[in-house]
Amino acid sequence: MHHFGNHGGASSRGPQRSGDDRSLELSNEPRVFVLGGSGSTLGFINSFRTDAGAVTARLVPLAWTPIGVVIGESWQNVGIALANLLDWVDRTFPPEDERAFVAPMRDIELLARVQWQADLPEALSDEAVLNIEDLPEEIVDGLAHPPAPIVQCAACRRLCVQGEFVWKEKELCAWDYHAQVFGKRGPWHDGPYEDRHFETLPTCAYIAAPILAEMGVDVVFSSGEIAAATAQEMINLLITAEPGRPYMALRSGGGFSVLRER
Ligand SMILES: [Zn+2]
Repeated sequence: MHHFGNHGGASSRGPQRSGDDRSLELSNEPRVFVLGGSGSTLGFINSFRTDAGAVTARLVPLAWTPIGVVIGESWQNVGIALANLLDWVDRTFPPEDERAFVAPMRDIELLARVQWQADLPEALSDEAVLNIEDLPEEIVDGLAHPPAPIVQCAACRRLCVQGEFVWKEKELCAWDYHAQVFGKRGPWHDGPYEDRHFETLPTCAYIAAPILAEMGVDVVFSSGEIAAATAQEMINLLITAEPGRPYMALRSGGGFSVLRER
């Protein structure tokens, strides 16, 4: 029998369930139980068996991007005395974080009592999560996609996906990239693109139309994968046909796009 520390009103947080209407499915498949999450991290555990009174929780970084949550591909192990687990969950996923959630404390207590354990999956996925119904929809959606390397935005420290938005050799989040590159001080053009301009086009994973809309920038052209020479001709045709406002060509998602200030 394990004893938990005092966890105050913690059990009032998170989804509430009436009675014992759910049985926790036990199987030999690799599984994890998600203890909680926040705006930057997801905590899970695959074994409540203690080693010198301690269990190992895993923390995986989460990036909230304009196109959804991306799960980090590496995780960090944290040894926690089982007696302090509920306090740790409450501290690590604090209610002050508007994106924080925690698994029902009763379920954590139950799993600890039966010393639940499963093999650790190689990668986190929605199928590997025992208590998927405890998770916010955005994180469930994120778990359906492959994990990715996560880095910190050089401007705001928010977590973002490595390599998606790099500007002047700095990793940025989508919001800061849009603000810096597509803002007033970005590389706007009044005239056609010459070859030398075309060699140094801004390049990013995708452009987020809602962010651009707030900035007063329209996407006036977007292509799939076409030859750079073809793109350059089309872009210059557009700029010369409708002159008078600043344009910016860029590479995104394998194709080309052209933005125009409103
Ligand atoms: Zn940022």
